[in-house]
Amino acid sequence: MDRTEGTPVSNTLLERRYGTLGKHSPLFYNEPIHLVRGSGVWLTAHDGTRYLDAYNNVPHVGHAHPRVVAAMSEQAATLNVHTRYLNDRVVDYTEALLATFEHALDRVFLVNSGSEANDLAFRIATQHTAARGILVTDFSYHGNTSALAAVTTGLTAHEGLGAHVRTFHVPDLDDRAQAGRDEAEVLDEALADVDRALASLQEDGYGVAAVILETLFSTEGLPRVPDGYVSGIAERVRRAGGLVIADEVQAGLGRVGSHFWGYQRHGLMPDLVTLGKPLGNGHPLAAVVTTDALMEQFGARNMYFNTFGGTPVSAAIGEAVLRIIADERLMDRSERLGRLIRERLETVVESRPRLGPVKGAGLFFGFGIFADDERREPDPATTKRLVEAVKARGVLISRIGPTDSVLKIRPPLALTEAELPILLDALESAIDEVLPRSGS
Ligand code: PMP
Repeated sequence: MDRTEGTPVSNTLLERRYGTLGKHSPLFYNEPIHLVRGSGVWLTAHDGTRYLDAYNNVPHVGHAHPRVVAAMSEQAATLNVHTRYLNDRVVDYTEALLATFEHALDRVFLVNSGSEANDLAFRIATQHTAARGILVTDFSYHGNTSALAAVTTGLTAHEGLGAHVRTFHVPDLDDRAQAGRDEAEVLDEALADVDRALASLQEDGYGVAAVILETLFSTEGLPRVPDGYVSGIAERVRRAGGLVIADEVQAGLGRVGSHFWGYQRHGLMPDLVTLGKPLGNGHPLAAVVTTDALMEQFGARNMYFNTFGGTPVSAAIGEAVLRIIADERLMDRSERLGRLIRERLETVVESRPRLGPVKGAGLFFGFGIFADDERREPDPATTKRLVEAVKARGVLISRIGPTDSVLKIRPPLALTEAELPILLDALESAIDEVLPRSGS
């Protein structure tokens, strides 16, 4: 998760920002970057410095994509109202969006943010099951509403975990602790942890409303999970009467390369799918996709209305994003470039004992940084230095995971093959600077 880094230098804009937004509003980097323009995967700072953006997944089809800008401005110049009137744009978009899902997932609520989507998914699940218990991984983030603060394990939230929440640990086959172990054994142990959490919810009288899973486990540090892990969780939760929420805010819309939605990589069929970040390419557009039965039940009991969710302008933007992904074959690109990057990075990490295996899927990848050649101790300080050294070479990345020592590299899918060497050369050269060679 994004968080404040280092102590920013003083400048007028920074002081003015502190004067209104306060000092707790997170800023990246020791010296924050003052951005003025974006195009494709490129960002321009006020001093003219250009950065290759290998961090941001919100501008999914590229910063300021001309077709998104045109769709937005044409619709804004024509009509923008809430959803209590008929409008073709809105229905066209919902049809196009639902066409990317399995038939069973045939209804959608349009909202404004990933947080709103997950909050609504919780309401639907809690009402449907008449249970309160929520299962969540022990290092994750799903949003900023009160209901989501109660399940936040991956960053600071003063409320603490809700009494109705149980956590479980996601195994990582790349972890040194798992070295030499049978995958089936790791799987059994991990699912036993889920069983324990479910039993605790039942024993304490909360029942099981839902499990919420981010299908790339990105906040968790992109662990490589055993085959059958995600479907095994879903099976257990359903047996206990709960629903499965797939949080696709990070993994969705072709990001993982092999599939359009991240849950499909795991052979999972969720009851509720929550979407956000990339859906509107920067415009606040998010959604809950679910079944007709769940929507009907919720709709009959609640008058759900969302003023800004699914306006014609949002719909025009959302539809443009889907068209661009198809026309520019961005999912294929994510898979192809992801593979090329992985191949080259694998040779880099193999020659460096302090770098862990390449992790992730498609165009969301990274690797762990360790303090010792045996890769026992994660090294957040060196990871931070590496992120700064990559920035000094004109490329923006970040870091994730429970100890903040896995690189987080997640460029817009607009990245082209011609731009790959810029990213990889910057990474390699920064590694040369920051990490001593083996034996030195
Ligand atoms: N779910 C996940 C997996 C996220 O990464 C985020 C945001 N980082 C959210 C939900 C919340 O989305 P938003 O910030 O749009 O409310």
